[in-house]
Amino acid sequence: MSTTQSQQTKWSSKLFNSTYLGLLITDHQRRNLLVNQQLCTLFGYKEQELTGQSAEIFHISEESFKTFVNLAFNNVMNTKAINLDYQFKRKDNSLFWGHVTGEVIDEDQVILWSISNITERFELQTELLRKKQQLHAINQLINMGTWEFDLRNRKLTASAEMHHILGVAADEEITFSSMLRKVHPHDRSILKQGLYNLLNADVNTESTSLRYKRANETRYLFMQGMPTLDRTGRPLSIIGATLDITDKKGLELQLQQQNSLVHFKSNYDDLTGLPNRQLLIEQLEQMIIRSEQNRTKIAVLFIDLDDFKSLNDALGHTAGDEYLIKIATIMKNKIRVSDTFARLSGDTFVILLDDIKDINVISNIIEKGLNIINEPIIIEEKLIYPRMSVGVALYPNDGLDSDTLLKNADAAMFKAKSDGGHTYSFYDHSLTQSALERIGMEHELQKAIENDELIVYYQPQINATDNTFLGMEALVRWQHPTKGLIMPNDFIPMAEVLNLIVPLNHWVIKTAIKQHVQWYKEGKKPGVLALNLAVKQLENLHSFTFIQEVLQTHNCKPEWIEFEVTEGQLMQKPEVAVHVLKKLSELGIEIAIDDFGTGYSSLAYLKHLPIDKLKIDKSFVDNLPHDSDDVAIAKTVITLANNLKLKVIAEGVETEEQQRFLIENGCSCFQGYYYSKPIPAQELEAFIQQYQA
Ligand code: C2E
Ligand code: MG
Ligand code: MG
Repeated sequence: MSTTQSQQTKWSSKLFNSTYLGLLITDHQRRNLLVNQQLCTLFGYKEQELTGQSAEIFHISEESFKTFVNLAFNNVMNTKAINLDYQFKRKDNSLFWGHVTGEVIDEDQVILWSISNITERFELQTELLRKKQQLHAINQLINMGTWEFDLRNRKLTASAEMHHILGVAADEEITFSSMLRKVHPHDRSILKQGLYNLLNADVNTESTSLRYKRANETRYLFMQGMPTLDRTGRPLSIIGATLDITDKKGLELQLQQQNSLVHFKSNYDDLTGLPNRQLLIEQLEQMIIRSEQNRTKIAVLFIDLDDFKSLNDALGHTAGDEYLIKIATIMKNKIRVSDTFARLSGDTFVILLDDIKDINVISNIIEKGLNIINEPIIIEEKLIYPRMSVGVALYPNDGLDSDTLLKNADAAMFKAKSDGGHTYSFYDHSLTQSALERIGMEHELQKAIENDELIVYYQPQINATDNTFLGMEALVRWQHPTKGLIMPNDFIPMAEVLNLIVPLNHWVIKTAIKQHVQWYKEGKKPGVLALNLAVKQLENLHSFTFIQEVLQTHNCKPEWIEFEVTEGQLMQKPEVAVHVLKKLSELGIEIAIDDFGTGYSSLAYLKHLPIDKLKIDKSFVDNLPHDSDDVAIAKTVITLANNLKLKVIAEGVETEEQQRFLIENGCSCFQGYYYSKPIPAQELEAFIQQYQA
């Protein structure tokens, strides 16, 4: 069907008016030739109000129109078509943003314009941009990096702040593995696990903190992630935020340090660094709980310096402080590391001793403490002999709680003071009585050597593999004129405190060697004589020279004797002891470690000491083979001896069963009641004869 001119004009007009775009045709003078209905609606004019008018009518101002002419009219003429967003004015003076296209459609600068209202879209875009800027500003403010890990292409998109946090240049790519490489090796699995949880487990968010290496320093990062899902609920990506919390961590640490400083200040004494009253009471209360369970005793020693006030008055406070610090240091070295030693106030101190099995232990410690009188303290070039009064209260006998115990120990101390000071007193006076009796005994011990009251007993040592007599250990006893035979455990510790141990041991060494050589001369084959050495004898060469002389005088061969030092004594001063032990060893005398297993020796030291033999302590033999701990210890000592190529002997063997267990585990030398108790020389002679027959 062919169309007529008039039909086409009618249809064009319909088309012109049916589009949602506002359409306008202008002439070379920028006057409106034709407008459509939409344009009229858009600007709020009637058609006749617009046609023939200048296009300036659509503009906010003359100025704005001029700009439009430049941007739109002139450009259209040059490029034939343009496309831009511009702000227009309606008849009612309201403004809107329009998207404008323009095209020259005829000669003589006839242009067809289309204008659509994009105000809403424009505002949305502006809002979006603003939001983006806002987000960026917030991220910067709180140092938060954001990122998205796209699961489809495994690409990580990171914000500028994230680059900054990770120390990666803005133009450098961040990948998941490049980030993981710089995470602390211990924290990598945390990060991987977090990601795994987001992908596989049913979690909405994951957060974790980890250490990250940034340019040689460790930073602490807090990371949070959350999946984005498609419509079926499958994860598309993980989006996340990362905070650098290093400064906060630093603060936390600082706070912790401050807390521990506060803890120290409230539990320890400023001057001496010793526990204060508060910590003392805490520890006493814990000790009471333990002792109640284990049915053991505690001793509370209340110590008051007798001369402190006068010293303070005479020499001043600084000297007084110095004195207290020195006393505290010396006393601390005199007690076991596990014992509590606290400063209560001024010149009063408290020592707590737990697991007390024997009252004598307490008096020994006190005497050692009081004995620091032998070591004057130098304060401002003056020699001061410390004097102190000590009061003792025992748990549970003298009180069941910390308050009562401290109060009663204080009362006992007061008693010691009123007795003239520089002494000690038990809260239970009968104990003071027996302690004082001991003091009486001390004076007697000093004379025991001169009065010939000591005797040497001998205990045989046997090799069970071929049933041979190996030798014997010399063990001293005190034949007291009124009290009868006193065992070494009841006077050796006292001899040590009173500095009598060296002359006492010299007497034993001389007496036993003389006897031993005599047996050799008589052809009795007495084997090797074991003699006990005290650590005091290893402090200088005095005893070494003495031993050398005794050997010479009596014509005793070095291989006929051996020395024993207890592990506990040896470890008191190993570096001092090693010198004399080496010299004895060079003479050809063997060295054994006595009571091995009780003294916490360090293996490193054992290697350097000239040792030939370990004596497994009786306490580990007692419960063999029934106590699993003792079994383990005995086996370990034997293995240790074998590995270090040392001989090994077990002491305190009393039963066939103990002996069999030890033989099965590689130890076949024994000393114990199973063969014989320690016996006087004559009985030993008979023993050897019997044995060798
Ligand atoms: P030690 O040197 O470890 O001596 C072994 C102790 O265990 C001896 O006790 C001995 O009688 C005892 N003993 C050995 N086998 C058995 C047994 O089968 N059952 C039981 N119940 N006990 C057994 P003793 O003679 O009372 O000596 C005790 C400690 O006194 C010695 O332990 C030693 O450290 C010390 N001692 C003895 N004499 C002297 C000495 O002349 N000088 C020095 N410095 N210390 C000595
Ligand atoms: Mg011994
Ligand atoms: Mg022993």
